[in-house]
Amino acid sequence: MITVDEAREEVRRLASPIEEMEEVPLANATGRVLAVPVRADRDDPPFDRSMMDGYAVRADETRNVPCELRVVGRIAAGAAELPEVPPGCAAWINVGAPLPAGTDAVVPVENTRGEVVILTSARPGDHVLPVASLAQKGEMLATGVLTPERVGVCAGVGADPVWVRRRPRVALLATGSELQPRPGDHQIRNSNGPMLHALLQAYDVSDLGVAGDTSASLQAALEVGLDADVLVTTGGISKGDLDLVRPELEARDVKVVFHRVQLQPGKPILFGRHDKGVVFALPGNPVSAMVCADLFVLPFLAVRAGRSFDEVIVSTRARLSGPVEGSPKRRRVFPCVLRGDEVDPLPWRGSADLYTLTAGNAYVVIEIGHHLAAGAEVSCLVPERFGAQPFSS
Ligand code: AMP
Ligand code: MG
Repeated sequence: MITVDEAREEVRRLASPIEEMEEVPLANATGRVLAVPVRADRDDPPFDRSMMDGYAVRADETRNVPCELRVVGRIAAGAAELPEVPPGCAAWINVGAPLPAGTDAVVPVENTRGEVVILTSARPGDHVLPVASLAQKGEMLATGVLTPERVGVCAGVGADPVWVRRRPRVALLATGSELQPRPGDHQIRNSNGPMLHALLQAYDVSDLGVAGDTSASLQAALEVGLDADVLVTTGGISKGDLDLVRPELEARDVKVVFHRVQLQPGKPILFGRHDKGVVFALPGNPVSAMVCADLFVLPFLAVRAGRSFDEVIVSTRARLSGPVEGSPKRRRVFPCVLRGDEVDPLPWRGSADLYTLTAGNAYVVIEIGHHLAAGAEVSCLVPERFGAQPFSS
């Protein structure tokens, strides 16, 4: 059985960005990854821009105050025609309006009286955002994931539509004959399908629903699922006689890269590859499925999407508020509440306990054989969805 780190390296090794791109309207592009960096279409600002409501003046004419200047015009934001401002004169100017030729500063209206006595001296450039001071034509302004801020940048430079990478296509399949929409007394509902669908919402997911634990049922679903870039299954991957996912995958030319990892929860995970893509066969217990999705599936998909393997779950150190027990053969990765540099391990009630998982905002990591007391330093893993991670493009 390989270690978690070895398994993650295998996953990383097989991950490469999708190079196909598509043009999408900016309004639909939030969260997508730019395939072509967005550049300034012109200087920003494209003109010397007033940052205050007031009077555009020649700074050197305001050296001795109070002084009176003749007002020769009014300039609104967006004005196309600018008045000529001869020496000894000023023009009323609004925030966002272009400075007229000859003037080099703005005196805010609150520093003036009437029409117009200047009460405070200006220095050249006062309250003026100089042309090209924010960006120069051709300068690269946005790459990577389209955050709302970057959408704003794109809009400002007229980048609409934008070129983004094609999203990885993911097929989701829950397996287990016990999974029923209207469960009888000895059956349960499918939690994993909707949970993983929600987790993978940045991707192009098709949910194939549930397959029973029979060759026929699995066959039909796997045929479809193996067309995706990434097939994610849950259940049917342990050692029971009805755990048919591995043989059914192998019958469809999936090569097993690893099966079983020194991880709790999540030991039974299988990672395979085939001509068209890869398969993550996750254990059926929901907490195991989630931990495996965070450690393996999301980092792989991040790379496929044009991001980086390490940015979607990051490691940090914290002090334990209570003791934790390691496992003799597996690295434990279980839910906790991380509060600054303190971490509260959540009570562990096994890998079926999705309820405790909902209370957590990180995982605490206990190395094989470690038993740690309150106050000990441990490493914690914070998935991207819980925020507070260093941002990268
Ligand atoms: P398995 O990995 O198939 O051995 O399943 C392990 C445990 O997880 C069993 O108790 C299953 O009933 C349960 N389980 C499997 N799939 C799901 C699912 N999609 N949603 C909720 N529980 C599941
Ligand atoms: Mg099962």
